[in-house]
Amino acid sequence: RVRTRFAPSPTGFLHLGGARTALYSWAYAKHFGGDFILRIEDTDLERSTPEAVQAILDGMAWLGFTPDEGPFYQMQHMDRYREVIAQMLESGTAYYCYSSPEEVDAMREAAKARGDKPRYDGTWRPEPGKTLPPIPEGRKPVVRFKNPESGVTCWDDLVKGTISIRNEELDDLIIARPDGTPTYNFCVVVDDWDMGITHVLRGDDHVNNTPRQINILKALGAPIPTYGHVPMILGPDGQKLSKRHGAVSVIEYDKAGYLPEAMVNYLARLGWSHADDEIFSREQLIQWFDGHNLSRSAAQWDPKKLNWVNAHYIKEASNQWLAKEIRGRIIAREGDPDSVDLPAAVSLLKDRSETLEQLAEAAMLFCGQAKQPDPELIAKHMTLEAKQAVADFWAKSQATEWTSSEIGSAIKTTLAEHGLKMPQIAIPLRLIVAGTPQTPAIDAVLELMGRERVGQRLRAFGL
Ligand code: GLU
Repeated sequence: RVRTRFAPSPTGFLHLGGARTALYSWAYAKHFGGDFILRIEDTDLERSTPEAVQAILDGMAWLGFTPDEGPFYQMQHMDRYREVIAQMLESGTAYYCYSSPEEVDAMREAAKARGDKPRYDGTWRPEPGKTLPPIPEGRKPVVRFKNPESGVTCWDDLVKGTISIRNEELDDLIIARPDGTPTYNFCVVVDDWDMGITHVLRGDDHVNNTPRQINILKALGAPIPTYGHVPMILGPDGQKLSKRHGAVSVIEYDKAGYLPEAMVNYLARLGWSHADDEIFSREQLIQWFDGHNLSRSAAQWDPKKLNWVNAHYIKEASNQWLAKEIRGRIIAREGDPDSVDLPAAVSLLKDRSETLEQLAEAAMLFCGQAKQPDPELIAKHMTLEAKQAVADFWAKSQATEWTSSEIGSAIKTTLAEHGLKMPQIAIPLRLIVAGTPQTPAIDAVLELMGRERVGQRLRAFGL
């Protein structure tokens, strides 16, 4: 059974790169009918915060990546890590090292001076027939993993293909600090083993950790998962994606009015493809995401394309749902979402909106106070002729029902009688009711705004 995990360190919000890694791990597990596990790697006590944990959980919930197991917290596994360290010391796959940090630095310098890779020189590594130095008094040891000194560590990376590293290039990794706390790579290994993780999908900043983790797993007699290291996400300028490029926290996209479906769709395509498909549902993604077609090269964040995808999902969403989603955003703008048939307003406005924020802003046409049009536009379009036509239209429309078709015919009759063209009445009407010359079809806008409010806005213009 396929078991994947997402293992964020709670040192900040859930950023886009992390969200994409979570997405791949989640989709891969779902594709194979397996389990997706969430593990919070909170052992860095100085940098981990409860707020960051919450931000990660919120981001995951928003994107709909519901873990089958977890969240687990590494801080709650400390006894287990210590137990495995004790077993390794016992079995001889790990050893105490009493070299001080200064001594290790000196060893590294010496190696460099010889033209070798800087490394620990193995002073405390036990070998048959070797006598270890006397233990320095009062010094607390670290525990080091006894890494194989020859041979190669090799894996078939789901993304990068075959990778092999000569073991002699790997140091004897510290797995416990002098105070006994386990180190990062070691905790990952024990958890991946205990949790029965079969596939590890993660950022390629971890690719150097993988051979070390594989060697420790081997020493423990644990199965080796399949690894896939996804390349990072670059900003539109080709630099590593960062705050400079705008929001990097997933939750910021929620606030800005992106739909989780759009975000999942866009993130999935960022480093993975299925033929030429750009728009696909969560179900299709799960059906297609089998670990193939993951891109080896870094993906570029493209805000325009994200907006395009989001606009698509807004168009597809039901008016009822969108109306519900933008209520709070309208209230935040001091608008009254109940002053209009909101789903009907949404239906009129959604084709022009790339985000829910834009949609809410557009809905303020119906939910907010009248906006003052630009005086230059007034001067240009509110001619005496236009004013007379508008007044005439208003008088005509009082005798009929207030529906867009009746409003439309009243406008047409007025135009014919005054010998005017559509914009000559539509633009002044728009300026009066909306404060701008750009709105959806004027008859539909007027209908939705309601006879009474249109009357008020006309009177404000002395009509
Ligand atoms: N905790 C690591 C990180 O946030 C990920 C570790 C892993 O996936 O193995 O970068």
